[in-house]
Order: sequence, then C-alpha cells, then structure tokens
Amino acid sequence: MARYIFITGGVVSSLGKGLASAALGALLQARGFSVRLRKLDPYLNVDPGTMSPFEHGEVFVTDDGAETDLDLGHYERFTGVSARKTDSVSSGRIYSTVLEKERRGDYLGKTIQVIPHVTNEIKDFLSVGGDEVDFMLCEIGGTVGDIEGLPFFEAIRQFAQERPRGQCIFVHLTLLPYVTASGELKTKPTQHSVKELRSIGIAPDVLLLRSEHEIPEKEREKIALFCNVRKEAVIAAPDLKTIYEAPLAYHREGLDQAVLDAFAISPAPRPDLSRWEDVMDRMTNAEGEVRVAIVGKYTQLEDAYKSIAEALTHGGMANRVRVRAEWIDAEIFEREDPALYLQGFHAILVPGGFGERGTEGKIRAAEFARLRGVPYLGICLGMQMAVIEAARNMADMPDAGSEEFDHEAGRKRFTPVVYHLKEWVQGNHRVERKLGDDKGGTMRLGAYTATLAEGSRVAQIYGATQIEERHRHRYEVDVRYRDQLEACGLMFSGMSPDGRLPEIVENRDHPWFIGVQFHPELKSKPFAPHPLFADFVRAAVETSRLV
Ligand code: GLN
Repeated sequence: MARYIFITGGVVSSLGKGLASAALGALLQARGFSVRLRKLDPYLNVDPGTMSPFEHGEVFVTDDGAETDLDLGHYERFTGVSARKTDSVSSGRIYSTVLEKERRGDYLGKTIQVIPHVTNEIKDFLSVGGDEVDFMLCEIGGTVGDIEGLPFFEAIRQFAQERPRGQCIFVHLTLLPYVTASGELKTKPTQHSVKELRSIGIAPDVLLLRSEHEIPEKEREKIALFCNVRKEAVIAAPDLKTIYEAPLAYHREGLDQAVLDAFAISPAPRPDLSRWEDVMDRMTNAEGEVRVAIVGKYTQLEDAYKSIAEALTHGGMANRVRVRAEWIDAEIFEREDPALYLQGFHAILVPGGFGERGTEGKIRAAEFARLRGVPYLGICLGMQMAVIEAARNMADMPDAGSEEFDHEAGRKRFTPVVYHLKEWVQGNHRVERKLGDDKGGTMRLGAYTATLAEGSRVAQIYGATQIEERHRHRYEVDVRYRDQLEACGLMFSGMSPDGRLPEIVENRDHPWFIGVQFHPELKSKPFAPHPLFADFVRAAVETSRLV
C-alpha cells in the first residue's frame, strides 16, 4: 500500500507547488522508490481541455487521452512516469460524477451533501492505484482557505485519518516575504497559513518555504515553534536559475530526508542523484546558442506552450547548446514580409493551435523556411500549415485550406486538404463523431501508433519504424492528396497503421523540414530529450555554423 504525501499551498498562489511536488517525486525515485503524482484542482470546469490557454496555460495530454493541467507535464518531465486519466481531477469533475450518480438513483434517494458524498468521491479518486507504487504524491491546487478548495482539504484530512498512522503526511508550501525597510524575512503569513490549515484538522509535517533570501537559523526555529513542526522539517525553497535545479537544490536543503523522517523510514536509502547532476552539467556548461523562432498565436503567455519551451531546452541539452526561443505573433506575417523578422533565426517552429486567426501568417512562415532552407518543425496545426503551403505553392492548388476555417466562417472557401475527421480506429474499435458534438472531448486524443517509412529522415531520427505519440486534434491531412504532394517533394513519411491518416510529412529537398500531426513535446524529458527536438536543435546548430 502506497504512502501518501499531500502537498498544499498557503499565503499566495503560484509559488511553484507543482514544481516542488515534481522535484520531491524525483528525489524519492533517486532513493529507489516508485512514485506517482496526482493533481486535484478546485476549479469548477469539468476538464481543462476547453479552458483558454491565455488563462490556464497549455493543455497537457496523457497517453490514455486525458486533457489535463500543465502541472502533469512537470510531473512527467521530472519523474518520467506517464500520467494517466486518473491522475488529475477538478471539483467540476467530482461534482458532475456525484450528480450523475444522483440522477441514476445510486444514492437511493438520500440527501446528497458535500460531506460525505463529495468527499467520498474525492477519497475514491485518491485511492485508485494506491497499491501500485511506494509513494503517491497528491498536490491540491489553489491555497488553503479558498472556498472551492475546502472539500479537497476535508477529504485529505479524512483520508489520512482513516489510514493506519504514519501512512500519510502533509507538506505545506508557503512564502516568507522579505521586507526591505526592516531587512527581515517575515514569518507571520506562514504562521497564519498553518493556523488556517490546523483549523481544518490538518497539521503539516514538513514546511517548504519560498524566499528570496537565506533563512536565518533564528527564523527557522521560530517557525518550527509557532507552527508545531520539527526544526529539521522547516525547509528552504530558494529561488532557482532553472527549474531543473530543483531536485538537487531541495535535496541540499533536506526535503527528501525530512519527508522520509516524517514517515519514520530509517535508515533512509542513499540517493543516486547522477541523473540530475548530468542534467545540470548540460545546462550550465552549454557552449554557444541557437535562436529558434516560434511562430504562434498565444505569444504573450509562455505557459501556453510550456512543453514546447521545455522540449527545446532538452534539445539544447542533447547538443550542449543553449536554445533561445523567441515568440513571434503569426499575424504579423499577414501584413509584413516574414523575412524582416525571421532572418537571423537558426530554426523555425510552428506549434499547435486552433482557429483561423494567424494561420495565413503561419503558412508564410512555412514558405519562408522551405524556400530559405531553414530547419522547420511544424507541430499539429504547424504540420497542417506546411501541407497547405505545399499544396498551394508546390502542387498548384491555390485555394487549398483547412475545413476547420470554413467551419468557423460558416461558408466554403477552401479545397480541404485538411478535413474534419469523423471516424477513426483506436485499438480494436472505431471511434465516430459528429461536428456538433460537445466541445470537450471530441478530439483524437492520446497515444496512437504511427508507422514510419523505411529510409525516411524521421525513421533515422527515431531509430525505429513504429512509434507512439500523443495527439490532440480534430482535423487531418487528407490522404487523397498524397500522390500529388509526394510528386512535388513532400513525402508522407509517417502514417497511421491502417494507412489512412498522415502522421508525418517531410520535405525531401530541404535540409530539415518536418511536420508532425502529434505533439512530440509532451514526451520530452531533460534526462531523455525527445529525438525530434534533439535533431531539430542539431540542425539549428548546423544552420548557425553556416551564417
Ligand atoms: N486545430 C487543428 C485540429 O484540430 C490542430 C490542433 C492542434 O494543433 N493541436 O486539427
């Protein structure tokens, strides 16, 4: 039976609970334990799939097709453990399950209440897979005291209470603000936050304190005393230069030791931190720099493309170079010559996206990359744009476009080389879908196999001809245009196993031009950079040597 670690936050939001949880997971792995990480989000949306990337950052997709919070991306990048549908839940999902059960009559006419019905549903969620790992780390979104978070806090309190003693611990992350006028770190907000937590029956075992300054011994003692936590369990979480420093930094501060002590695991197995030492060595001893332009829509908010930014960093680590990613709003290229902006970049990446806005600019970016021989990686919508560009400018189909944009505009303007997919095969069964289905959950989601053509560039990059990658899209490149496009040099080098759905295109007459219908960035790790990103950055390094 797994031991449970609940990670909560206090004082302010955005302190990096997700990162702290992920880093703690990595440290427990380094001590030889198996882990799984879980996120409980208090918002009422049923799933994050339909939330705006502007507000909520990217939607992270799991192998089994769940659309989740970007924190699950952190978890995977730090632990390498593939997240599952059952690793993320929101209040909205919990309530909707409870209400569905009520409608079905499962509660036999009883009065449905937050306690016990909602809290039971949360506890059931926590229990799933509890016998598979040594440690289950559960992060509660938001901060203690938020109204919508209360059922989660109550549920974890009950959960710990119902388990044998010593099987669950609570780690609380707070902030120690620094007041310049008095030159002091202030402990009062932390004291209040812990008080709030204790008032709902949860006593933290470990405190993780974010602060811009070293925490003096005196303050540590004071916090231990006032918050009723052992002094060794008051851990500093200093600001870091890069997120990948977190496992080593938190280890130095004693986080994993404090957690093992709280569980009375003694003697604690010695940690092997070589994976993280190597990652840090590659980050800090990078030589040279390449510039990659990311031509997209949500350029103001970096979190909207979090996994892409991280995968590029990993690609840099693989080549021991720094990758400077710069975000360019695609719409600019609808008014101005892309050359003005894209000259000087060593590679161009067009990420995924939805809707027509900015797409003509992305097509022009693809054209620029093709004509100038600049490495191009098109992801999902970025692949579709590369295909439309090839159809228009190489295969003489000036009105080539995507059905997505016609649907949006409510009239037919394009020859749909990219069309709306209404049925496909998943494993052994057929999935069917109508255009008017619910907004959430109508996409081809999760891991699908692709078969790569022998001798293609991608087969060489992957070192394999069968791959599995994660998808999140409604529209597909129409295989009926394959011969016509291949005759012009755009090779369909990856296909679904039944040969109906194009998964990868590559331009044969170009140094490095690849479009993929899936999201390779979701599977990249700092200690195992994704081959496509590693090779894309390698190509960028080569370009940088030419100029
Ligand atoms: N909008 C496109 C589709 O639905 C691409 C999606 C994406 O880039 N994730 O097919």
